[in-house]
Amino acid sequence: MVLAHAAPAETQPLKLENREPQSPGPGEVAIDVVACGVCRTDLHILEGEVSARLPIVPGHQAAGRIAALGPGVASLAVGDLVGVGWLASTDETCRFCRSGRENLCESATFTGRDRNGGYAERLVADARWVYRLPDGFSADYAAPLLCAGIIGYRSLKLSGIQPGGKLGLYGFGASAHLAIQVALSWGCRVYAFTREEIHRDLALKMGAVWAGDTADNPGIALDAAATFAPAGEVVLAALERLDRGATVAVNAIHMSPLPPIPYERLYGERVIRSVMNYTRSDAIEFLELAARIPVRAQVEEFALEDANQALLRVKRGQVRGAAVLTV
Ligand SMILES: [Zn+2]
Ligand SMILES: [Zn+2]
Repeated sequence: MVLAHAAPAETQPLKLENREPQSPGPGEVAIDVVACGVCRTDLHILEGEVSARLPIVPGHQAAGRIAALGPGVASLAVGDLVGVGWLASTDETCRFCRSGRENLCESATFTGRDRNGGYAERLVADARWVYRLPDGFSADYAAPLLCAGIIGYRSLKLSGIQPGGKLGLYGFGASAHLAIQVALSWGCRVYAFTREEIHRDLALKMGAVWAGDTADNPGIALDAAATFAPAGEVVLAALERLDRGATVAVNAIHMSPLPPIPYERLYGERVIRSVMNYTRSDAIEFLELAARIPVRAQVEEFALEDANQALLRVKRGQVRGAAVLTV
């Protein structure tokens, strides 16, 4: 499914194309995609809010089997069940890469933005950024772990939430419904703030102690919060509920402007912190944790050729859990 020109999701901008399968180059692997998760970032690329190298095959939560190895790849074998996420490559030499912060690399490339991604039967990826999937996961249930899961996990870490703490999750889509499972495994009490009734319902079923609308007040002060909605006013709403010294981690690649923030809301050493991409160690840690807990995605499946419809449902907030394309 190829995006040639960015346009509103309602106009179905992705078109089905038949292409010759690409062979892996040095250090690369070819993967037969079984399932690819649909991320809000794909929607931003579709609609031009995040720029991409067009034409592009979107999709950065691809799970499948290794079909072929390029020269020099020894870490993976044909037939392995693997996943490809958002980070496609980094320069490995800059100040960020050399200090274990490759998520901040200014020369990074991204799957489904700079390199063709997983909305396809076959994908070629740099083997250094391909992860073996944990045992016991099928490709369709593992796919949403590869961005929604890993970035949700990084958001929890950057929020500074401690075991047993009171955590606010703002927006309860693909990422938050995975993050809550990690937070509950740490003994946290989770408060879900979201506009959509179906998302509040899912949060409560999954173990949130409270669910309400974005601006509702559960009557406690949060020890930490993570936001997953692309709306600036949600950050301010989360800030209002934070205890002194607490952090709100903002998980968004694109967001409407933040409203003016009265300083007294921030005072008390409250912190607003954005979350950018993830590191290799975030991915490896999270996939191990996901196998141990185990983290189970709620999945709404679509055929690959129905990718436009899946993205439209993400845009409208109609997906319960994560949307996944199956190939
Ligand atoms: Zn770098
Ligand atoms: Zn993503």
